[in-house]
Amino acid sequence: MKTLKFGGTSLANANKFIQVSSIILNQVKNDQIAVVLSAPANITNQLEKIIQKYTFNHIVPIEIFINIKKFFLQLIDDINIIHDKYPINKIKKKITLKFKQLNNLLDHIQTLNYCPDKIYAQIISMGEILSAYIMKAILETLGNKVTLLDPVKLLLANNNYINAVVDIHKSKKRFKKLKIYKQDIIIMPGFIAGNQFNELVVLGRNGSDYSATLLSICTNSHICEIWTDVNGIYTSDPNTISTARPLSEITYQEALELAYLGAKVIHPASIKPLQYYNIPCTIKNTNNCNHPGTLITNQNKNNSDIIKGITYLSNMILIKIYSIKNIQIANISNKILKYLSDKNISVYLLHQSLSSNTISFYVHKNNTLNIKKKIKKILNKEIQKKLIESIIEIKNLNIISIVGNNIKKYNVKIIKKICLSLEKFNNKIFEISYNISNISLSIVLHTNNIINIIKKIHDFIINKTIPINIFLIGIGGVGSELLKIILEQRDKLEKKFIQLNVNVIANSTKYITNKTNINLNNWTHEFAVSKKNFYLKKILILVKKYGYLNPVLIDCTASQDIANEYNSIIKSGFNIITANKKSNSSLLLDYLSVHQIANKYDKKFLYETHVGAGLPIIDNLKNLIKSGDHLIKFQGILSGSMSCIFGQLDDDITISDATKQAQKLGFTEPNPKDDLSGIDVARKLLILAREFGYSIELTDIKIEKILPKHFETINNKKKFLLQLKKLNNQFTEKVNYAKCKNKVLRYVGTIKGNGSCSVRIKEVDNNSPLYHIKNGENIFVFYTKYYQPIPLIIRGYGAGNKVTASGIFSDLLRIIL
Ligand code: ASP
Ligand code: MG
Repeated sequence: MKTLKFGGTSLANANKFIQVSSIILNQVKNDQIAVVLSAPANITNQLEKIIQKYTFNHIVPIEIFINIKKFFLQLIDDINIIHDKYPINKIKKKITLKFKQLNNLLDHIQTLNYCPDKIYAQIISMGEILSAYIMKAILETLGNKVTLLDPVKLLLANNNYINAVVDIHKSKKRFKKLKIYKQDIIIMPGFIAGNQFNELVVLGRNGSDYSATLLSICTNSHICEIWTDVNGIYTSDPNTISTARPLSEITYQEALELAYLGAKVIHPASIKPLQYYNIPCTIKNTNNCNHPGTLITNQNKNNSDIIKGITYLSNMILIKIYSIKNIQIANISNKILKYLSDKNISVYLLHQSLSSNTISFYVHKNNTLNIKKKIKKILNKEIQKKLIESIIEIKNLNIISIVGNNIKKYNVKIIKKICLSLEKFNNKIFEISYNISNISLSIVLHTNNIINIIKKIHDFIINKTIPINIFLIGIGGVGSELLKIILEQRDKLEKKFIQLNVNVIANSTKYITNKTNINLNNWTHEFAVSKKNFYLKKILILVKKYGYLNPVLIDCTASQDIANEYNSIIKSGFNIITANKKSNSSLLLDYLSVHQIANKYDKKFLYETHVGAGLPIIDNLKNLIKSGDHLIKFQGILSGSMSCIFGQLDDDITISDATKQAQKLGFTEPNPKDDLSGIDVARKLLILAREFGYSIELTDIKIEKILPKHFETINNKKKFLLQLKKLNNQFTEKVNYAKCKNKVLRYVGTIKGNGSCSVRIKEVDNNSPLYHIKNGENIFVFYTKYYQPIPLIIRGYGAGNKVTASGIFSDLLRIIL
């Protein structure tokens, strides 16, 4: 025997009814099948609404009544269109009869002027009864024998009309007496049982899962299948957390904990009995029959120790009772627990403390009105006797719970990750609590941002993905190239659980943004049509708004204005990666300030590309210094353009032609004057020197000027190149003079041990590592405590959009180190 239960969404319309009938018939071939049916989607809610509305204003909302009736009549009409042999008239009569009964019940309520629980149960369970009739007729139309079971007569419940509990042992005995033919399909309406007087009672909202449990136990089923509209139990609610995924297996204990702490897939009351009778349960999807779903058993075969899910309960109320004497604590909590259990109110995270004489617990807002008042009433005696100091109520709390066997094994890691996620939302933890059986860890928060927080924690803890949220400013050669690399590398990184999301792309005038990820296949078009004006402040607030875990602002501009804002960018929660040398080469005070702020706010401030473009210079230096090394002397060719220009001089090319050529190859700044003025090299040298700990300013660097003074006023590119021609002879002379000594000219930056820095043209001979550096190559020669007399040399292309972008990309991965 196998028990199948179909929930409301699986029975939402005629097609769904037919679909369910074929799922049943598919299984009939291998096993005898018992079926529990819920009411069609939303019908129970509508029936409940009739009663609520009546109770509120004492008028029966007749339109709801009519709508429900219409729904059922339409349903069987539609079924009849699909199966023309469907006994539509017979079922129509049953439906009409049921609605007459409903009408009578409503009349009865009006006479009484209130709705007793007994009548409430009869009204609210109507949908289940009709579902069972309608399905029985479909199966019979298709040539099957069906036995319809009456749960009022078979499932013996206690006297609670609304949240009844069934005596499984006695019900089982009743089932034993039943005679059901082997070939019959068994159908039973869910949600319903009967008390000792054979009166109809219901099993609490969503109680037909519990019916399925009871039927599988009473029919000795070897499995219970709960058919719903999702692929099983998920790691979190898939309707709100898009990255939640179905679990292939889970223990009863974990399922119970998840259900109790807010997961909506299976009713908590249905799990314990299944566990006791050791009947495995599968959660399956009616819309995706072939999906294996989630198997719930006593012990999982695989991954028994991993974290299974994250749930949350919002609108929780904390009640804290301060007593005068600790001997009263047990007595008070007994009274409260009895009251809450009588009222069927779930209690969460109950704590008693004998040291502070307190009892605290949480209840859900929907379960109870004025809970504080009610508790006061119950503890009236104690209050009179002045045994209670105060009762405190705090509303609007959220309980987030992480569930998995052996949760304590991971507690430090989990709490660390939670704290990190919460920090982004400026949230403080109100309380942390463990379940005694080591299966869940709950944190209590006061927040309006619960979904976003759950999303973050879920990605971080369950999916183990580490997101990096990228805000790119500057989309010239380097910025655009970087986006290409991100697009290329993204999938590869995702396999390593690193998720690169580009959320903002901006230039100095406008920007585009996407909360999750800008489509990088189409960003140029999107950018071209964007009408969003760029203000830095506008994009900075997005970090807090969306709670990005690892936000990074990448500065690919050359803007002093942006560089001036680094402190406030960091304070807004960003890491910074910059290819903009303006910041690190500004005044020492500003330089130190950005570094200190980054340190204070625990943010990364990375600038690998400031020196040698993509060459691994800065990071290596940092590591060297960390390991105790210090500089004795540095010498290098730090500029791709100057390397290219001076290299050509070796081959008797004039300085003006060489500059033109370097410009053509893309090595120079937009105006090559900036290269030849030496200022670019000086900035890089300054950054390097500061990295070694020298406190110097740009003005401290001696720059040997290549260009005569009158060049300073020439800002036009063409004019500059024309004027440059006038220096050709002078340069050729210098080159030839060096050649006589078997030397070449190089544009060299030097840092001495005492921190003095200079940039100048040097004659170098064949023995110098600088001799062969040309064509845009850079070289960095470090003589340090560890590297001498043979220096540490790093050489390679030190300019160009591609290598610079690759340098930024390597910084990007350092964000999460
Ligand atoms: N129809 C009932 C309800 O919605 C029982 C169930 O669906 O489980 O509460
Ligand atoms: Mg339901």
